[in-house]
Amino acid sequence: MALTRRCPLACRHCSTNSLMNLPNNPVEPFVQLVDTFTAEEHPELVLMSGGEALLQAETVRKIAQRSRAVGTRSYVLSGMYFARESRIPTPIKRAIDSVDHFAASIDAFHEEEVERSAVIEVLRQLMSEGKDVSIQIVGLDDEDPYLEEAIDDLRTSLDDRVPILVGHVNSAGRAAEWLHHDAPPVLASSAATPSPCAMASWPLVRFDGNIIACCNQDVVDVDVIPEHLLIGNARHDSWESVRERTLTRELMRAVRLIGPEALAARTDRCSPGYCGTCMTLSHDHLAKERAKELVESPSISRLESAMGSMLATGGAAAFVRNYGSPRYAELVLLGQDRRSVTCAG
Ligand code: SF4
Repeated sequence: MALTRRCPLACRHCSTNSLMNLPNNPVEPFVQLVDTFTAEEHPELVLMSGGEALLQAETVRKIAQRSRAVGTRSYVLSGMYFARESRIPTPIKRAIDSVDHFAASIDAFHEEEVERSAVIEVLRQLMSEGKDVSIQIVGLDDEDPYLEEAIDDLRTSLDDRVPILVGHVNSAGRAAEWLHHDAPPVLASSAATPSPCAMASWPLVRFDGNIIACCNQDVVDVDVIPEHLLIGNARHDSWESVRERTLTRELMRAVRLIGPEALAARTDRCSPGYCGTCMTLSHDHLAKERAKELVESPSISRLESAMGSMLATGGAAAFVRNYGSPRYAELVLLGQDRRSVTCAG
């Protein structure tokens, strides 16, 4: 749940382009969606982010409480603007106390806004109270010397007790102004190898209540959401219908099974890149037919279930190896033996 586009910080790499002077969006749709969770039908985890999610501290608290009542765990990610104060403001502390897991962003860009030592102090305080915490950090790539220095410091300062999810800065949002990853279009035939999209594993609720099939920032930012990626709207859809559409939509099942490029390759057309191809699938009747054929083949539900098991047994480190930092993937497992809940993003 991207609760808000507002943020008091102005980090140069912000993938969501969050600013404090953006309009405040209503938060009722987020709570309305959570109110449709039931003990029988609910997600395992609700993750709250932004912008700065803790600008909506009371909403975070409500969502966490209502989620827990039906068996859904909650997680909030913060840019830690409040660490600049000498103590955690009461509404923010109440929101943090209400969630099952608290994650802090630390990286070279956040450190231009909030000192690392102040963030470490907050994490130490929360850990001393028994809170389950983790860190999200990004570098330009795995060889970025900042990552090595900061990770070493964080591991020492926090006694190797805090999982660290390491990723790379994406050329999205404000980072797109100065970071360019040129990806030339490739022929679909060279992208025919199946490459399932794990980002399509959970839906994202964006600031206007629209629910999207993945958390790709390009999809979050787009004005007209491609039909197959628009799963519903939190204002009027229930979790049950969101879940049902997520699991049964043929194009999305094909994207999760073989990825958009391998699907496009079955139609013999050029591919404008991985997600670029996915964004065009709604208008591609041949791709829709190929997706239908794929998911209707007799062995497909066995394949989907085998892939589910592989993802479950591969766990968080395997996910990060593929979608974040291969070099630092194992750091999501730090402190695991001391924790009752394993949750690192
Ligand atoms: S391939 Fe499609 S579903 Fe996956 S992240 Fe890209 S746009 Fe989203």
